[in-house]
Amino acid sequence: MAKKDRPKAASVLKKDDQIVIGGAGGFIAGALTRYFHDQGFTRIRAIDKKPLPQWYQRVPGVECLCMDLSHEDDCKRACEGAVEVYNLAADMGGMGFIERFRIECLRSILINTHMIEAAYRAGATRYFFSSSACAYNVELQKNPDCPALKESDAYPAMAERGYGWEKLMSEMFCQEYWAERHFETHIARFHNVYGPWGTWDGGREKAPAAICRKVMEAKDTGARDITIWGDGHQTRSFMYIDDCTQGIDMIMHCDALIATPINLGSNFLVSINGLVAMAEEIGGIKLKRKYDLNAPKGVGGRNSDNTFIKQVLGWEPDTPLKDGLRKTYAWIEQQYMARKAGQRPVS
Ligand code: NAD
Repeated sequence: MAKKDRPKAASVLKKDDQIVIGGAGGFIAGALTRYFHDQGFTRIRAIDKKPLPQWYQRVPGVECLCMDLSHEDDCKRACEGAVEVYNLAADMGGMGFIERFRIECLRSILINTHMIEAAYRAGATRYFFSSSACAYNVELQKNPDCPALKESDAYPAMAERGYGWEKLMSEMFCQEYWAERHFETHIARFHNVYGPWGTWDGGREKAPAAICRKVMEAKDTGARDITIWGDGHQTRSFMYIDDCTQGIDMIMHCDALIATPINLGSNFLVSINGLVAMAEEIGGIKLKRKYDLNAPKGVGGRNSDNTFIKQVLGWEPDTPLKDGLRKTYAWIEQQYMARKAGQRPVS
């Protein structure tokens, strides 16, 4: 599809259509809220269970509500008058979190179950669900050089325990709402997303943010070494946040992608050792590497096969990792320094 023909919110919605975004106190939904706000949408309702002062971003002019979307009544209130609903709320984090807190991850099924029903009852036009590459069969991801994952690789199912199964089941809800009730749903399987205004400390952070922080900690304290989870040979791809928000918009407004899960991720594969080297280069330091082989390290290798997204949208996430990581490092450094100076950072 040519760039000019790709429908987006700006060409499909009226500026005062009600947009509802769940999980907006967090990283991706916070960025999505800003994305729509910057395009001139005037009725955005942003929701998160975190108290408002703890939101990563609070966008001026946006209705920000602290509500628990695992509760049916809160979902009903959240979806009142909605034209589009974006569900990005989930109890989640990096490997350290999802391997340890499987029950919390599974309980996110309540969020999607109530949100999609509330959106349907409210008469919304479209519903978006943020799935994950963790929905893919783990048997296909054992080695660092495994083939990139294509959409059909989710079945036969052997998803990541807890988090991945919740995503797979919620995808199925979205597909059945379309099949049985003709409620238009869209599903993106995100592969690792990174960027400014994301979690960078506290146990839920993901590899790019954790590695940037560890590099600056080593610089700051003079420790000169870095602890890496696993042997560092695990491979991943990482998508910059601006690609993610654009991709969500295109996927949500593409008629060929109704109830059809699609990869939204970069296909630039890098090992964790390679990621550390990039962060060291940005930080201007070389560190001694220690490997914690008992730490959670996830699958051996995971990449996004972008054949389908290129075919259907004529586009794929393309921000070079070095550029995105540089911006992320700079933002985390500001946060790190702010915390050191006694201010309250985002984390
Ligand atoms: P995040 O943790 O920064 O944001 C999720 C937000 O959901 C949090 O602010 C949390 O408070 C909120 N939330 C949790 N339970 C809630 C509830 N019951 N009611 C209301 N709000 C609730 O995570 P993120 O990285 O922004 O992820 C957003 C979505 O994308 C999630 O569904 C996640 O599973 C998915 N995803 C993210 C990545 C990634 O690399 N970040 C990769 C794959 C999928």
